[in-house]
Formats: sequence, structure tokens, C-alpha cells
Amino acid sequence: MHAISQKTINSSVSCSGVGIHSGSKVTITLHQAPIDSGIIFRRTDIDAEKSIVKANYKNVVETNLGTTISNEFGVKISTIEHLMAAIWGSKIDNLFIDIDNQEVPIMDGSSEPFIFLLECAGINIQNAARRIIEVTKTVRIEDGDKFVEVEPATDFSIDFSIDFNHKDIQKQNFIFHSTLASFKNDICCARTFGFKNEIEYLNKNGLAKGGSLDNAIVIGDDGVINKEGLRYQNEFARHKTLDFIGDIYLAGFYIVGHFKAFKSGHGLNNKMLHKLLADESAWKMA
Ligand SMILES: [Zn+2]
Repeated sequence: MHAISQKTINSSVSCSGVGIHSGSKVTITLHQAPIDSGIIFRRTDIDAEKSIVKANYKNVVETNLGTTISNEFGVKISTIEHLMAAIWGSKIDNLFIDIDNQEVPIMDGSSEPFIFLLECAGINIQNAARRIIEVTKTVRIEDGDKFVEVEPATDFSIDFSIDFNHKDIQKQNFIFHSTLASFKNDICCARTFGFKNEIEYLNKNGLAKGGSLDNAIVIGDDGVINKEGLRYQNEFARHKTLDFIGDIYLAGFYIVGHFKAFKSGHGLNNKMLHKLLADESAWKMA
């Protein structure tokens, strides 16, 4: 008998919303998937033979405004990170995600609606051991003053620091240790955020069309514009941690290691996975 089993969901569940960049209405439906499937997106608006895009770091094609994956036919799924983080947080290994448009709905800008959806679906424990990547040596990647580092550890943890040149954010740090804290209580509610002047620029360029105060924290000259304020004092660092977890789950497996990140984003998160997994002396499958 194995200590940790693979998991999928019990019953199919759906939710609808808008894509934060496309502004398009989109519905996702989650279905059970067999042992060793991993997380697989299926575009229901595309011919079936071209519709499958595996949630894998090698399929990442854009990291500018979110994480976008693509298959060999150029069929894309964008802004996958908050959903991926919720799947990680729910400890689900195998899942089919049917989606009728390119961009995953933004919902409230956090992972909470997806955690709720996965709780509604229930967990199905599968008769196979969960496969885990164990980091066996320190790996570090840098980009200017930004970096991500991982070292061997007994479980997953992340120490994430941000440093924005803005009076309302500046330096923030959040440490998440998977055995001491819970994704649901400590990370999942943290929302995406942006600066008012940046959002105006994106809007002019046909982006962030679905963005609003209902799905993002917006920071103006006089601080946070959202009437309800922040959900956590360091919500920005917690959201970056959420993004990190969603991006790192594109390894295809749960990773055991202690990560440290400074000012990292989707691009550097993905480069970290490429560097770590390309070095076969730095990890082993357990
Ligand atoms: Zn995010």
C-alpha cells in the first residue's frame, strides 16, 4: 500500500466567466482523468484532433501577462496559472479541463472560485502511487536582480519576496510551507493586481479587456482603489506565491524542494523548471 495515492475528481463540474485579457465569455468543465494522465486541457471549440494541450512547462509559449501554453498546432490556452495553482492546492494529479475559448476565466482574480469548484467535484482516490519530483541539489536561475533558487528539502516550501518601486507595495515577503500551512487558508484568496496607469495602457492596446475591480486589485496614485481594500496585508506577495505554485505545477508532478524567489514572474518561473528538469543530476522521481 502506498502512502500517497494519485487523485482525480469524483464528478464533472463547470464554471463560467470572462477572460481578463480577451474579455470573452468562457466556460470550463472539469472531468475525471485516468491514472498517469496529468492535467490536460481540451479546447471544445477546436477540431478534436487538434484540441488537446497538455499542462506542461515545455508547452509554455508566452509569459508576458500570464502563462500561455500551446500544442504543435498552435492551439493555445492562456492565463492558466490560477487554475493550475488550485489543482495543486487540491492535490489533484489527473484532470481533463474542457474549455470553449482560449483564455481561462479570471473569476475574482484569485484561486478561491476554482478551489470551491474542485471541492464541489469531490476527490476520487486512484489506485496508483503519486509520482513526485525530489530535488537533490541546489539549482539557481537569475535575470538581473531577479532570481529563483531551489534546494533539497523534505517537503514543498516557497519563500517569495517582491520589491516594487511603488509606495503602496514596496517590499513584501511571504513564506509558505506545505506541511505547516494550507493553500486554501493562506494563499488561494490572494487576487491578481495591477497599476491603474498600466491597465490604461493595456486597454489602449486591446488587452485587459475583461479586467475590472471585480477581478483584480487596482493600485492608483492614492493607493488601492477597490472599496473592499485588501484581503491580506501582504496580498501582493501571496498572489505572486499563488502564481509561482501554478507555474511550477507545470513540471507535471508535485515537486519536493525548498524554493526561494525574488521578484520572479511567469517567465523566470518557467525558466527555473527548464533548468532544473534538464539537469538529471538535480532531481529524481520518487
Ligand atoms: Zn496571477
